[in-house]
Amino acid sequence: MARRAKTINGYVTQYTTLKVRLYPTPVQAELFEKTFGCCRYIWNQMLSDQQRFYSETGAHFIPTPAKYKSSAPFLKEVDNQALIQEHNKLSQAFRLFFKEPGTFRHPKFKRKKEDRDSFTACNHDFESGPTIYTTQDGIRMTKAGVVKAKFSRRPQAWWKLKRITVSKTKTGKYYCSVLYECLVKERGPVVPTAETTIGLKYSMGHFYVADNGTMADPPRWLKQSQEKLARIQQKLARMEPGSKNYEEAVGKYRLLHEHIANQRRDFLHKESSRIVNDWDAVCMRSEALREMSQNPLRSGAGSEGYRAFRELLRYKLERQGKPLILVDRYMPTARTCSACGLVQDDVDYGARTWTCPKCGTTHDREINAARNIKLLGLAQLSA
Ligand SMILES: [Zn+2]
Repeated sequence: MARRAKTINGYVTQYTTLKVRLYPTPVQAELFEKTFGCCRYIWNQMLSDQQRFYSETGAHFIPTPAKYKSSAPFLKEVDNQALIQEHNKLSQAFRLFFKEPGTFRHPKFKRKKEDRDSFTACNHDFESGPTIYTTQDGIRMTKAGVVKAKFSRRPQAWWKLKRITVSKTKTGKYYCSVLYECLVKERGPVVPTAETTIGLKYSMGHFYVADNGTMADPPRWLKQSQEKLARIQQKLARMEPGSKNYEEAVGKYRLLHEHIANQRRDFLHKESSRIVNDWDAVCMRSEALREMSQNPLRSGAGSEGYRAFRELLRYKLERQGKPLILVDRYMPTARTCSACGLVQDDVDYGARTWTCPKCGTTHDREINAARNIKLLGLAQLSA
């Protein structure tokens, strides 16, 4: 995914992350486990010392990882970079907390059960070569050596590897997020027209409906998987926690949950790429999507997924110099006739179609709303 961009001499620095599945040997997996544990340990040590120091002196100070190595020699067995990164992450967490205590929470202690197993390491370019790099079918890391990896996408030759984050899922799979920096020539902003702009409306049934009548319809398998998930959930509720059957069902549940998350991510990525490649501007409502979530089972593909979809669209559009236009969510897009502009006070929101009493046009309710979103978006664009 791309994040912040800086412009220098017509070039923009972009960041791209590739997520890669890792297949460590048993020895490498053991080293990963140790590193996860050491990162958690050092985080908790630094946090507890920070707290003690703060309560005694009123000053904020976080000791560096080096301080702990004599009392905890096992820390020397893992990549020192990973420990330094914990120090950076904790410092950053405090910086955000001090700056905006209302938005960011005070850093918490990490627990094996609750917190994700992960560690981060930065790449360093030495004269002898980089400390971390990718090979044909693996990633070379500082302590682990070359770890076998499956790339779904290859990095470009000119991308610069900045850092990696190795993590483990609850189902025991290892992944590596590889962050790359790349310089790309800055593109001039695209000037969208009515013909090259699309309006999208969130839809409970179709995920989204566009002003031209196209719909996304999350694939059937997503629904099927979710129904399966619901069945396991019901079974779990009847079982005795801790029994062998229960543990088995929990294992199944986690695998399926992970599978659905992957399916959903795939779907959102493909849909957003398709739209960004086909259109020059996208209009959407700026709704508080959390409130729209009604059926918790559908929320995956639904409102929660729609928010993720909007963020994907935002960054993919931005990379191509195209705007995402957000329309005020209090505008009556659902009860305005997109043909003549009549605003009706009472509309049957349950009905699929709506006939305008003024001009007589019969609208598909959702397509009509998408058209209004587009019209409002275009008006904002030319304002
Ligand atoms: Zn009308």
